Amino acid sequence: MGVPLPRKDLFDIPEGVIYLDGNSLGVLPKGAAARATRVIEEEWGGQLIRAWNSAGWMDLPRVVGDRIAGLVGAPAGAVATGDTLSIKVYQALDAALKIRPDRRIILSDNGNFPSDLYMAQGLIGTKDTGYELRTPDPEAVAQAITEDVAAVMLTHVDYRSGRMHDMKAITEKAHAAGAVMIWDLAHSAGAMDLDIAGSRAEFAVGCSYKYLNGGPGAPAFIYARPDIVQDIDPALAGWLGHEAPFAMDPDYRPAMSTERLRVGTPPILQLAVLQEALTAWDGVDLADLRAASMRLGDLFIAEVEARCPALTLASPRDAARRGSQVSFAFQHGYAAMQALIDRGVIGDFRAPDIMRFGFTPLYIDEGDVVAAATVLQEVLETDAWRDPKYQARSRVT
Ligand SMILES: *Cc1c(COP(=O)(O)O)cnc(C)c1O
Repeated sequence: MGVPLPRKDLFDIPEGVIYLDGNSLGVLPKGAAARATRVIEEEWGGQLIRAWNSAGWMDLPRVVGDRIAGLVGAPAGAVATGDTLSIKVYQALDAALKIRPDRRIILSDNGNFPSDLYMAQGLIGTKDTGYELRTPDPEAVAQAITEDVAAVMLTHVDYRSGRMHDMKAITEKAHAAGAVMIWDLAHSAGAMDLDIAGSRAEFAVGCSYKYLNGGPGAPAFIYARPDIVQDIDPALAGWLGHEAPFAMDPDYRPAMSTERLRVGTPPILQLAVLQEALTAWDGVDLADLRAASMRLGDLFIAEVEARCPALTLASPRDAARRGSQVSFAFQHGYAAMQALIDRGVIGDFRAPDIMRFGFTPLYIDEGDVVAAATVLQEVLETDAWRDPKYQARSRVT
């Protein structure tokens, strides 16, 4: 048994806010601001360039990577941090294609996050002819893993619907067909217990500003299965992925570990804040967290369906097939979400009609879920969303 959940006392959540968007940007951990100030004033300001050694900056990407490894079921040393998730997708996919040079097909699904698909399209543009990205419906992916597929690149939990792929079964199918498996854990890391090493997938990638609460622009992570690391030929051969960056060797020679998937100078401020944020996971049993997440999602579905007949469930009803979010379709979802946010219940909206609610068991409890459903009912019953001020779209929805 782990520590009791939630752990609201570890976070600064504004008074009167019910935050159901931790699947998009996690809340502020209490220690984050003090840590950022310390890094800026004492380390950067006081130690200047010496801080790379004296304050442990050079080791920080690895130290934080090891902490994330523990949350995704990977061994220490198998996770590198830095850059953005889009970059990590590109690196993993390029490495995967080089492992299967005789094949030309990248298989994903049409529910995948656009940036993952764009990265695949961009990578194909740098390659010989014949490469193709296939995006069947998510439900048809398993059957689409044929013997011409080089890499299967899937996001484990769908950002829109919360539908979860069967990691173990799909990875086994990919391997049986001779394909390389890449999992994007953007909506899984920190949302459930994971066993990426046990899945035998070659690569996994994810970001740390969603369920891991690392803050806007926090660094991404990449896992490579330890037994293949030394065969990876990095597309983005940056100096900090070199075996000896300070040898200033004119020729690239990759590090003999997952460090070869580092690129350039690490974002120290963001890494330090993320390291602080990750202390909220100390003592947390991820199986408990998953159980709490399933309960919260089930409760929200029951409450909303009882109170808001205009909404249609757009997530799997079966919690075992769902990540830590619940989505409802509503034609006027954008305006309804704006009205909801105005009343202190923060979720978000994804085109064309999805109202999305994330349940983060670290800081959300059943009282929050019932209160949020009550406010949603009020917004719909009073037609509050029809107010013109809720119709104008902002750049970020
Ligand atoms: C959030 C998310 C991204 C965002 O990528 P960034 O490079 O960090 O902006 C990419 N892919 C998936 C699946 C996501 O959920």
